[in-house]
Amino acid sequence: MHQMTLAEIARGLADKKFSSEELTKVLLARITQLDPQLNSFISLTEELALEQAKAADTRRANGESGALLGAPIAHKDLFCTQGIRTSCGSKMLDNFKAPYDATVVAKLAAAGAVTLGKTNMDEFAMGSANESSWYGAVKNPWNLEHVPGGSSGGSAAAVAARLLPAATATDTGGSIRQPAAFTNLTGLKPTYGRVSRWGMIAYASSLDQGGPLARTAEDCAILLQGMAGFDQNDSTSIDEPVPDYSASLNTSLQGLRIGVPKEYFSAGLDPRIAELIQNSIKELQKLGAVIKEISLPNMQHAIPAYYVIAPAEASSNLSRFDGVRFGHRCENPENLIDLYKRSRGEGFGPEVQRRIMVGAYALSAGYYDAYYLKAQKIRRLVKNDFMAAFNEVDIILGPTTPNPAWKLGAKNSDPVAAYLEDVYTITANLAGLPGLSMPAGFVDGLPVGVQLLAPYFQEGRLLNVAHQYQLNTDWHTRTPTGF
Ligand code: GLN
Repeated sequence: MHQMTLAEIARGLADKKFSSEELTKVLLARITQLDPQLNSFISLTEELALEQAKAADTRRANGESGALLGAPIAHKDLFCTQGIRTSCGSKMLDNFKAPYDATVVAKLAAAGAVTLGKTNMDEFAMGSANESSWYGAVKNPWNLEHVPGGSSGGSAAAVAARLLPAATATDTGGSIRQPAAFTNLTGLKPTYGRVSRWGMIAYASSLDQGGPLARTAEDCAILLQGMAGFDQNDSTSIDEPVPDYSASLNTSLQGLRIGVPKEYFSAGLDPRIAELIQNSIKELQKLGAVIKEISLPNMQHAIPAYYVIAPAEASSNLSRFDGVRFGHRCENPENLIDLYKRSRGEGFGPEVQRRIMVGAYALSAGYYDAYYLKAQKIRRLVKNDFMAAFNEVDIILGPTTPNPAWKLGAKNSDPVAAYLEDVYTITANLAGLPGLSMPAGFVDGLPVGVQLLAPYFQEGRLLNVAHQYQLNTDWHTRTPTGF
């Protein structure tokens, strides 16, 4: 039962082959049995799950239908869940029970999805290995000595290990696509503004975007359908109609123009990954796509720009965690300044503290022009590169990451080494574009992802290309041994 995708579950529930309650019990038992190896959950919500599953079964019995009605999922632990701990992977919020549901959580619950729990993540979504979580590192089910990617590593490891079919995640610089690549999943970062950020704890507000992590493009379409849409509580949410994503999955790729940036195949890329990407290109050519070499000349400036902008926004967003209103408060403060200093010093881990300091520095008088403003100008150049490219092609294709999942601890002493691994993903966040990662093969038994980027609001195009690819390949069906 645990092998089923969301689409298969929807069919099984509609055909009354099993109930949501039965399925939920099977998956909860599986999580209890197997998750100790992975550490992919911060909180399990068994009671809520069984209550929601029973309610979904009743709704179905009363004639309601819907692909998410009774479907078990989990939320990355930065989506606020009313009355349930929402920790953001941080000691700072270990005692925080959100007073309301994030829009994404409320929308999925209304569609009948069943919440099994809250998944582990890098602290405040800062990281690419899920090692900065206060709740401990998450292990990659493909090799327990390797990282699952981050920051949505808990969602990725849980779905890859078949503990559940799909989960929510967020992507500020790659945190949906990179863990998808590292764990053999399909993950979609939507266009900025497509999915509401209300109740999604902010890291870098101009870059953060929620989206689905699942095993197939078909399932990403189902989950995105439940997440997307205008929300008047989020001023950056965009009031565009949401298309029927599942209906966009059956378009032929005949004549589809795929751009392959020459800058993607530079020295930093593992040649074995380069070969798998070439294989995926050949596969898409067989399906009728036309390949064109393109150039994204400003790509090399994207990492330094991102690692100014994201920490700058984080330093501002995280100033609200002051020991007064939310979360951790130190014992016996001597005065207000002592309360601030010790609460923040004790509540935040080293990576979060590093980013707050970098960001505050970049925003300070005298450095603002040199760093923050310059980074914003680079951001515009990166966007312009994409706009020029999308005049010539429909999709941009390349590797999701330059290397496969590294060993736990391998980059702990050198944060910049980890930052450099974001080279292919962060440009989409800087430009606000949608991007998808899908399974493309294995290197030393570790999964490799191919990334597709599309113009604004073309999530349907991304999902269709991935679905056509998945109809003709079987990488996405491979299961890690032991799960
Ligand atoms: N690795 C990037 C960072 O650490 C991206 C994280 C994310 O997308 N949340 O900022």
